[in-house]
Amino acid sequence: MYADIIVDITHEKLDRIFQYSIPSELRGELSIGTEVIVPFGNGNREISGYVIAFSEKTDYPADKIKPVLKKAENSVAIESRLVALAAWMKEQYGGTMIQALKTVLPIKRKESSRVKRKVRLLLSENDAREKLKLYLDKNQKARARLLAGLIEQPEQDYELVTKKLNVTLAVIRSLKEQGVLSLESEKVLRGSVKYKKHGEETVCFNAEQEQAVSRFWEDYSRGIFGTYLVYGVTGSGKTEVYIEMIRRVVERGRQAIVLIPEIALTYQTVLRFYARFGDRVSILNSRMSAGERYDQMERVKRGEVDVMIGPRSALFTPFLNLGLIVVDEEHESTYKSEQVPRYHARETAIARAQMEEASVVLGSATPSLEAFYRCKTGDSVMFELTKRAAGQNLPVVYTVDMREELRRGNRSILSDRLKEKVRERLNKGQQVMLFLNRRGYAGFVSCRSCGYVVKCPHCDVSLSAHKGGRLVCHYCGYEEQAADTCPSCGSACIGGFKAGTQQIEDIVKREFKDASVLRMDMDTTKCKDSHEKILSAFSNGEADILIGTQMIVKGHDFPNVTLVGILAADMSLYSNDYRSGERTFELLVQAAGRAGRGEVPGEVVIQTYSPKHYSIRMAAEQNYEGFYEEEIRYRELMGYPPVSSLLAVLMTGADEEYLELAAGHLKNFAIRADKAKNLQIIGPASPYVNKVNDEYRRVLYLKCGEKKVLIEIKNLMEQYIEMNRGFQSIKIQFDFNPMGVF
Ligand code: ADP
Ligand code: ZN
Ligand code: ZN
Repeated sequence: MYADIIVDITHEKLDRIFQYSIPSELRGELSIGTEVIVPFGNGNREISGYVIAFSEKTDYPADKIKPVLKKAENSVAIESRLVALAAWMKEQYGGTMIQALKTVLPIKRKESSRVKRKVRLLLSENDAREKLKLYLDKNQKARARLLAGLIEQPEQDYELVTKKLNVTLAVIRSLKEQGVLSLESEKVLRGSVKYKKHGEETVCFNAEQEQAVSRFWEDYSRGIFGTYLVYGVTGSGKTEVYIEMIRRVVERGRQAIVLIPEIALTYQTVLRFYARFGDRVSILNSRMSAGERYDQMERVKRGEVDVMIGPRSALFTPFLNLGLIVVDEEHESTYKSEQVPRYHARETAIARAQMEEASVVLGSATPSLEAFYRCKTGDSVMFELTKRAAGQNLPVVYTVDMREELRRGNRSILSDRLKEKVRERLNKGQQVMLFLNRRGYAGFVSCRSCGYVVKCPHCDVSLSAHKGGRLVCHYCGYEEQAADTCPSCGSACIGGFKAGTQQIEDIVKREFKDASVLRMDMDTTKCKDSHEKILSAFSNGEADILIGTQMIVKGHDFPNVTLVGILAADMSLYSNDYRSGERTFELLVQAAGRAGRGEVPGEVVIQTYSPKHYSIRMAAEQNYEGFYEEEIRYRELMGYPPVSSLLAVLMTGADEEYLELAAGHLKNFAIRADKAKNLQIIGPASPYVNKVNDEYRRVLYLKCGEKKVLIEIKNLMEQYIEMNRGFQSIKIQFDFNPMGVF
């Protein structure tokens, strides 16, 4: 028997399998995922690696094969299923097997466990008082202090005792020798919450919730492990539905993972899970220490956890009998990893579930095009929740055409309608949120008079303004010179959109002198916790108006906010990538959803230069399906995901000329490798950010209707890069269906 091993070197060239023999003393000790120490290279340097398979024979001469030396100390074996998942991720997203293994293995090293020491009085109170008198008579002050403290409270924390009573370990030891007290240590599990399960306070499901749970359960009971999408507005009872599904799965002896974007992982949400599952719930978050994570994973392996809740990385929880993965807010871009392998947690959840015969439940009020498309193609089943459980109405939305304002002579960033409505709220003592949609903003050029936006004639995305009046497409590299007048209407009001939150704050303060204003953006949230502080100040009514970027859209509920103003809905609409329409729709709907969460119904004002654009129109109507129909047509026409697949190849190097040359070679290779001529190859173009840390960047985009073909080409490119010395000084990363433009 031989062990197939991936050695722990991040160098691309060594990303292949090395075979080692298994010495007799290690037989039966190794399994798939075990970390081992092996001799490597001519000098037999000792390095670590992971066993990823066993084989009966080898192509190497027997005398050339070296033995595995030993198991790595303090290492945590990756579950063999997670190794299979890592292999899938490497294939799907590129990168090395080691990088994939490191992604699925959340804990790198065994962390020494933490113990808590306790001091306990062993004497009866009478005996203790006698002893105390003795110490006092002998003037043994420290001993007396300690004993008096223990008489008051017979069991105390070692750390507290030494600090509070100011005694040393020597004093504690001497009392221990005299049989006065005992010093005990107990192992504590870090990151655990002690929480008792409440009684079964089940809500009475409405017909739609009932339908979702029973259809899910019907499949599950028959051994059909599918993918489902729960599509329902915030407050429609999605979380209740997940909890019931999980309850049933757990009752069958299986476990569940609940992915929630970190920003939405609030205390209230977590409490609802504790209430149902008690301390059989575990939580992961980015603030936890390595020790806390380690202890929670140990609990998982011992079978003490049924439900793991956390962001992206919680997907790799080593459950032995995983039955269900819930991906809440599945449209969130944070589900995509920005490190190699650049995996998407939604897709990876579906892959893991298929490998382990588990089901996947996705949930969102504004589903990703990917998730909705899966329902249309029959790969997922959709459950719709159309009613808010608490019965509030959706807000009334007004769209203001900013071109019209300009025509009437209002050059302010605030429309007359918005000003009037803000004043109304201030008089009533209600609160207002003003939202500047800067996400993905990339310096597009537009006409304030007619709304015309300069776009790439080939890619149908906005061009970005660069120095010297150059307008550039970041997919294909197309360039043109910025014009002085609008090519559509001849107006001179053409240019970049420059307003920032700071300027808006000044304008708002000037306009509403008596109002108190808070601002939340990158500048005001640099300090730790400042994000939370601003939101809670606003929530406590310490300000009338909150101005902010997309940051203010999520998280807290503000019942006193009855008006939301969206200042420039177009800013994300004309970002320079193919997801801009989807992102705009999602942000507008989520922002609108902030108005009228309380008793008083809400209103929303959307200011735009393109009131006819479907993302804006459909967001104003809160009509997801209408939006989807338009957007999917655009994706079909242009060959963008989810209809086609898009592979970005990001290349980085210090020498720009050489990089350009290498990028050209790689492109030519891709053209040659694509024998059946299935691909559309775009670029190489300079990314939006052309230079980072003195490294230049180039991006090549490959489009194809079949993902399988793209993966094959990616594999061939990886081989070509590995074999060709010319690529040594260049870093190359792959990104399937990127979330934005590079
Ligand atoms: P979502 O996850 O879609 O935002 P939640 O599950 O959080 O919705 O539900 C919103 C609120 O309504 C919660 O307080 C929840 O307990 C309550 N709720 C959900 N479903 C019902 C129901 N069928 N009957 C009564 N209350 C419900
Ligand atoms: Zn114009
Ligand atoms: Zn282009």
